[in-house]
Amino acid sequence: MTEPAKEIKVEDIKTAAEGKGCPVSRALYFVTEFLAGPMCGRCFPCAMGTYEARIRLQNLVGGKGTEDDLAALRRISSDMVEASFCKKGKDTGKFILDWMETGVYQEHVAGRCPDKTCAALIEYRIIPGRCINCGDCKDVCKDFAIQGEKKKPMKSGYLPFEIRQKRCTRCGNCISVCPVGAIVLVDALAAEPVGV
Ligand code: SF4
Ligand code: SF4
Ligand code: SF4
Repeated sequence: MTEPAKEIKVEDIKTAAEGKGCPVSRALYFVTEFLAGPMCGRCFPCAMGTYEARIRLQNLVGGKGTEDDLAALRRISSDMVEASFCKKGKDTGKFILDWMETGVYQEHVAGRCPDKTCAALIEYRIIPGRCINCGDCKDVCKDFAIQGEKKKPMKSGYLPFEIRQKRCTRCGNCISVCPVGAIVLVDALAAEPVGV
């Protein structure tokens, strides 16, 4: 006899969400898992609210968030707390409101992820003045996002190491192997790091 499927609890999704990056990413993870699992669709504020919340959160994580998204998220969450039929919907609205209190949502509208976890809002960059042209970063990059060539004895010209942002998947492998700390993680909006 097959065992009945174990019910996914809202509290368990919330616990898992705490390890999923910044508060906006956590909320997006939470509503996505809630939609896929415990959300039954029996009442409008929770069913429609969670769908719309996911779209608004995707905008913020993707670097396209606006003040309209923030206002919509506040409205949706408050309606869920007030009018959802059961505790699952009320808790979901409360969790989103709690995460919004951090101020990090506003930062995303301004194009910054303070925790540096939203790929659309960050960039890895090489500081030319620190780079010793060892090539370790290029060797470790599985996405072929780093160009440049190692310095060769008796050869004066060489291609400096640089990250091609369009290819970079923000995996972070390069930063951990650089022996001289020449790779930095910055806001995508930030000006070029100064060479030192
Ligand atoms: S609040 Fe409860 S009853 Fe309403 S859709 Fe959400 S899970 Fe279902
Ligand atoms: S963050 Fe990852 S994908 Fe981007 S350049 Fe570094 S190793 Fe390559
Ligand atoms: S690992 Fe660091 S020092 Fe070596 S090439 Fe890359 S950025 Fe330059």
